[in-house]
Amino acid sequence: MSVARFWRETPRRYNLGGSKCTNCGTAYFPPRSVCPECPAHRQSIEKMIPFQLSGEGEVLSFTIVHEPAEGFELQVPYVLALVKTVEGPVLTGQVVDASPEAVAIGLKVRATFRKLREEGKAGVIHYGYKFTPVEDLPFAAGPRGPPVPAPSEVPSRDRAPA
Ligand SMILES: [Zn+2]
Repeated sequence: MSVARFWRETPRRYNLGGSKCTNCGTAYFPPRSVCPECPAHRQSIEKMIPFQLSGEGEVLSFTIVHEPAEGFELQVPYVLALVKTVEGPVLTGQVVDASPEAVAIGLKVRATFRKLREEGKAGVIHYGYKFTPVEDLPFAAGPRGPPVPAPSEVPSRDRAPA
């Protein structure tokens, strides 16, 4: 398997592997070895298990970044969001495939695996998750035009008299 294909096919396994406390059920990303939610933290020791996040969630808050961080020069303005995943953990990540004006609190997003940045002439590439709006995925409903009337809805006055 090529490296590119490996990355494409294992984004969640590689990036969104968190942990979950089997004592209280709280999920964490990045993974933790002790659960801060448990009344006595010691209760969670040895009870943390690996846990995969689905990558789905919604925007809790966001900021539009106009001053790029080093390595992001070509991407401004971009949207940096706090995303509350359906499993609970809050992730920070860039929202892509959407104009900054289209991003809003409550927007449903899904993590996707992208190149984050390239470093220097050696081209060291950093990969990580970003978020895309769920509605913009190709298998979701696209932009809707006006509804097309079914043949039976054609006004009867336009029909030829019997
Ligand atoms: Zn716990």
